Amino acid sequence: MSIVKPTIVEKWQKKNKYGRPGTPLNYTKVAIHYTGEADVKGSATVNYFNNVVANGTKVNGKYVYASAHFVIDLDGTIYQLIPTDERCYCTNSANRYAIGIEVATTGQDNHYTDATYKSMVHLCAWLCDRKGLDCKKDIIRHTDVVGRAYKLCPIYMVLNPSKYTQFKLDCANLKAGKIKTSNIINCTNGKGKVTVIPTTATTKTKYIRILKDVNIHSKADFNSSSVVGKVTAGGAYTVVETIKRTGTDMYKLKSGVYITASPKYVEVFER
Ligand SMILES: [Zn+2]
Repeated sequence: MSIVKPTIVEKWQKKNKYGRPGTPLNYTKVAIHYTGEADVKGSATVNYFNNVVANGTKVNGKYVYASAHFVIDLDGTIYQLIPTDERCYCTNSANRYAIGIEVATTGQDNHYTDATYKSMVHLCAWLCDRKGLDCKKDIIRHTDVVGRAYKLCPIYMVLNPSKYTQFKLDCANLKAGKIKTSNIINCTNGKGKVTVIPTTATTKTKYIRILKDVNIHSKADFNSSSVVGKVTAGGAYTVVETIKRTGTDMYKLKSGVYITASPKYVEVFER
């Protein structure tokens, strides 16, 4: 099951030693992060990586080395800064095998807007799909790599593990085609709702009830040579096919025999 690529806005970072060294990557994990400060636009994070860090900037006298493959904004826009076959500087020791996604957050608890959540599920599911990865196993949090003492990232997903599990389940269900992107419900906004797998309309089974004793046939005709027996009034049988005929139609029953469709002899019902 391959899923549609999400809409991605390309903001390619120039090659530079602080964020895009050009080192090849064959990713086996997808790591999620949060940008660190709620209600700051993802576009500001893109600008910081591409136009500040990439040019060489010092914090406390040391150059900053930082970047991400993708940044997801508060309005759900997905920006891509670095090709998926090159390393970024996002997830410490996991940089050599992980895609890094920075995600903008909102509110005191750094949860996700509905649009951001939907994009995050779509992007992660798509990234897993194209490499045959398992969403439940191969989507990781920054904290899974560096430990809680180093950083709680993404903080909402670290402090709300059941929501993180739901998020990975949503990714897995999208990847498996069990849900569509339009079905995705944000489980992080405090409303207590989660994505549900839509139930496909179950097709009802068609039956007939015999009103008057009538012959059954081995073929879809009324010739006496095809008569193989008789069914009696009151019996009920499963219809598997309706045979359109000139004259009176016939039903093929589950047992393989044919019977008249005439309402004088049989009554149809569905269940
Ligand atoms: Zn992080």
